[in-house]
Parts: sequence; structure tokens; C-alpha cells
Amino acid sequence: MSEIYESVKAFGTGFATTFKHMFRKPITEEYPEYKRPLPERSRARIVLTRDPDGKERCVGCYLCSAVCPVSCISMQSAEQADGRRYAEWFRINLGRCIYCGLCEEACPTSAIQLTPDYENCQRDILTLVFEKEDLLVDHCGKDKEYCFYKYAGISTAEMGKGEHINEEKPVNVRSNLP
Ligand code: SF4
Ligand code: SF4
Repeated sequence: MSEIYESVKAFGTGFATTFKHMFRKPITEEYPEYKRPLPERSRARIVLTRDPDGKERCVGCYLCSAVCPVSCISMQSAEQADGRRYAEWFRINLGRCIYCGLCEEACPTSAIQLTPDYENCQRDILTLVFEKEDLLVDHCGKDKEYCFYKYAGISTAEMGKGEHINEEKPVNVRSNLP
């Protein structure tokens, strides 16, 4: 008897829910005519951003590639005459990416960033292999001020170690040896 009661109750609850929604204003969003703006921190299409002075932020350190759980980032690092490193080529297979954001977390220069642009679907999966030219944008993305080369404590043609903003003088690690 209690089973019949439970079944009737379940039907009644279901129909009541349907009935209630019959008189509500529909909230259907007509995609793609209407595209709901997503929060800035949404994780979708990946870009490579630039420093405020317009130079490439990526220093080809391989950290994003190492941390990526699906191994979809590859690159080749190189060095300019002034000691500044960069990625000679940089490739992301977005067909494989799971948009976890770990690459962005690991990046010391704020170069690699995920954006709210989610319209990446393609029929040909190979078109989702993005090269550096496809990834590089002409702005700083979320991090408007940061410039790795001003704070990193590396020696370049412009400044030596210990001369960058807020940087302490280098420590002679050998002086700690016995
Ligand atoms: S978002 Fe995640 S899966 Fe995609 S490239 Fe970055 S680390 Fe790899
Ligand atoms: S995007 Fe960032 S983490 Fe990846 S190689 Fe360039 S600087 Fe390193």
C-alpha cells in the first residue's frame, strides 16, 4: 500500500512542478543570437599575452608544458642577443586541452592566459592545433601591469642582477659552503 502511495506522490510532485512552470516567463536564451557575457576568469580559449611595453611575455620556460595534465603544449625556447628568452615556436592542441587552467597558474610571466571565448568548435580537429601566431595577442590580458623582466632578477643588457625594482642584491651561495 505504501508503495502505491509513494508512486502517486511522485507523480503528483512531477505534475505539480510541470504545472508551476507553465505559468512562468520562459528564460530561454537564444544562442547564438544572444551570447551571455561570461566572467573574466572563465576558462576557455588560450592566448599568449604581451608585456605593457608590447614585448612577448613568454620566456620559453616549459613550465606550462610540464604541468599540463594532457601534454597538449609544446615549444622550443631561444635567446635573443640581449639575453631575453622567448619561444621560437609554441603550439597548443586545443582539441586535447581540458581547460583546467593549470598552465596559467604555473606561468611565471603571466604570458599564457585562458579567456572567456568559448566558441572554438571545429569539424576538422586539426584546425584546433594553434601555433604561436594564432595564440599571440597584442594586449596584457588580465594582468595589466606585470612585467617579468622588471622583477625577475635576471641579468640582461638593460640591467644586471640586483638592479631591478624591489630586488635585493644577489647572494653568494658559495660563501655558505664549509
Ligand atoms: S588548460 Fe590545462 S589542459 Fe589546457 S593547455 Fe592548460 S594545462 Fe593543458
Ligand atoms: S607560457 Fe609561461 S609557463 Fe609557458 S613557457 Fe611561456 S613563460 Fe613559461
